Amino acid sequence: MTFIAPFITEFQAPLPTWFKVGGRADRLARPRDESELRSALDIDPELLILGDGANLLVDDDGVSQLVVSLSALGTFRWDAAAGLLTVGAGVNLPKLITKTVREGLSGLEVLGGIPATIGGALVMNAGGAFGQIADVVHAVYALDRAGRAVVRRRDEIEFSYRHSGLNDLIITGAQLRLTPGDPSALRERLKEVMAYKKRSQPMADNSAGCAFKNPTLLTDIDGVGTSGQRVSAGMLIDRAGCKGLRLGSASVSPVHGNFLTADDGGKARDVIRLIAEVQRRVFDTFGVPLEREVVVWSRAGR
Ligand SMILES: Cc1cc2nc3c(=O)[nH]c(=O)nc-3n(C[C@H](O)[C@H](O)[C@H](O)COP(=O)(O)OP(=O)(O)OC[C@H]3O[C@@H](n4cnc5c(N)ncnc54)[C@H](O)[C@@H]3O)c2cc1C
Repeated sequence: MTFIAPFITEFQAPLPTWFKVGGRADRLARPRDESELRSALDIDPELLILGDGANLLVDDDGVSQLVVSLSALGTFRWDAAAGLLTVGAGVNLPKLITKTVREGLSGLEVLGGIPATIGGALVMNAGGAFGQIADVVHAVYALDRAGRAVVRRRDEIEFSYRHSGLNDLIITGAQLRLTPGDPSALRERLKEVMAYKKRSQPMADNSAGCAFKNPTLLTDIDGVGTSGQRVSAGMLIDRAGCKGLRLGSASVSPVHGNFLTADDGGKARDVIRLIAEVQRRVFDTFGVPLEREVVVWSRAGR
């Protein structure tokens, strides 16, 4: 007889991602605390963590690994004396931003418009033109794959552009350093940040935001940039002639070249093919390899 843990709540569970395409999880668990998360690790040490699905593409065949949603790890507590907000990994970032702005706590408003859970934002070091989550991190709490508790202080984390080095851990929470601010000034700042995003990015389309990281050039490229310079992947994609390119149900956004979008009812496989085609064209044109920012889950474990 197969033992099924009580927190494995769904079989053949749909995996909600912002691409709105892709397959299901054979098994989905929603552990209510760290002890249940440890039990989930006992069942499948290779388990996959689902955040808000905003940087995720799941292949059409779905995944066989146990998928774990940490949505139950949703607590937050403000310690005014220490200036630290303790948050669970499952807390929704946009909702937290609204709350901290309302409470007059500054630091997260620069991340306005980024869909994420706290765990997903930390592992991706989510950010943009106005800042990145690393700027407010004091410490990160996690479990390793053996179920051991891990605490990483800010100076022990290798944060850099869209990188945290935390990928092998299962983030369970964090302490964020916020500072008191005037709620109406913070609200104005948040509005500016959101307006900038809405102007420059197709926020309503089915996507994972930027599909590729902005690459650092390894050599000087005429009219593009100099060696060591980080350049816009969207600009390279446009100039490689990919803007508006369509493969089946997937296309390169005409608004922002680094946004690959999927039609409603489309196929993840088309997006996967489009990712490869854009990488090929940019490499053929400029000799620059584009590194994927979007995480792809598949049975083959890409
Ligand atoms: C419209 C749109 C706009 C966007 N704009 C931006 C932007 O401006 N800047 C930016 O940086 N990103 C942007 N993104 C991408 C996305 O918002 C971020 O990458 C975000 O951090 C993803 O968080 P998530 O919780 O949705 O993670 P998911 O997409 O669910 O997962 C992403 C990866 O993180 C892992 N992960 C999630 N939670 C945990 C955890 N607790 N512990 C360990 N690993 C975990 C997953 O296993 C997966 O590998 C955008 C996306 C969309 C759809």
